[in-house]
Formats: sequence, C-alpha cells, structure tokens
Amino acid sequence: MPRIGVGTDVHRLVDGAPMHVAGLAWPDEPQGLAGHSDADVVAHAACDALFSAAGIGDLGSNFGTSAPEWAGASGCALLEETARRVRAAGYEIGNVAVQLVGNRPRLGPRRAEAEAVLGAACGAPVTVSATTTDGLGLTGRGEGVAAIATALLLPTPR
Ligand SMILES: [Zn+2]
Repeated sequence: MPRIGVGTDVHRLVDGAPMHVAGLAWPDEPQGLAGHSDADVVAHAACDALFSAAGIGDLGSNFGTSAPEWAGASGCALLEETARRVRAAGYEIGNVAVQLVGNRPRLGPRRAEAEAVLGAACGAPVTVSATTTDGLGLTGRGEGVAAIATALLLPTPR
C-alpha cells in the first residue's frame, strides 16, 4: 500500500546569516535563517515527511544530537541521505510536496530551480509552493520562515 507522511519546520530570521532555502542560496536577502545546519526549512520539512511516511523516525532522531557527523550538513545533503534511508527501509519515493510559508524569499522566480535541486537530491519529483499569512503570526511578522511537506512512498516491488 502507498504511505503518506507529513513534516513541518520553522527557523528564525536573523541579521547576518546567509539565506539557504529550498536547496538554493539567496545572496540578495537581507536576513538569513538561524538553526541547525543551514536551516533550510524546505529541505528539513521534506526530510521529516519522508521519515514520517516510512515510519523510521524524524529529522531529530536521524540527524540530531546523537548523530554529530550530520551537524553541519546542508539541507540537500540531509535530503539525499534521508532518501537513501527511506529506500533502504523498502520504499520508492513517489513524490514530495513542500509549501514555504513566509514573506521571504520570493520563491516564484526560482521555483523551477528549487524543484530541480531538491528533486536531484532525493531522486524523485519535488514540488515547492509558497504562501504568506496576511501579516499574521511568526511568519507574517517576519520573525521566521516555515515549511509544511507531504511525501508519498510506494513499497519497493519484490
Ligand atoms: Zn530545520
């Protein structure tokens, strides 16, 4: 049977940090995201959705403080390793869908680039959409950026 999973992530916007979101660098952004590794909320949410669907834990249990070798890894590197672990658990990845929630960066002009980079990292189709929250909440006030993801897995044929 197919299996779906869900993942969310949030990181704080801060001055003086580089912005790495959706597998891309955003050198023109005035602020970046703070947090573990490069704080790529889109990649992290995608990883969590894949782990969720496979039933093999989450981002924290796979790459958290108990796995210091992954401490500085990029979002794309984590996504690549997540896909490897999901396949090792007996699943093919059908697709991953991620929605970025926040005011910045403006994903639209680079959507195809982001989808190509993330898709290459996990070896499956990844779509990235974006929305804002009408000025409300932590994303609307510009305190941080969030992402919500779903993933569909299919059992590997035997
Ligand atoms: Zn994260």
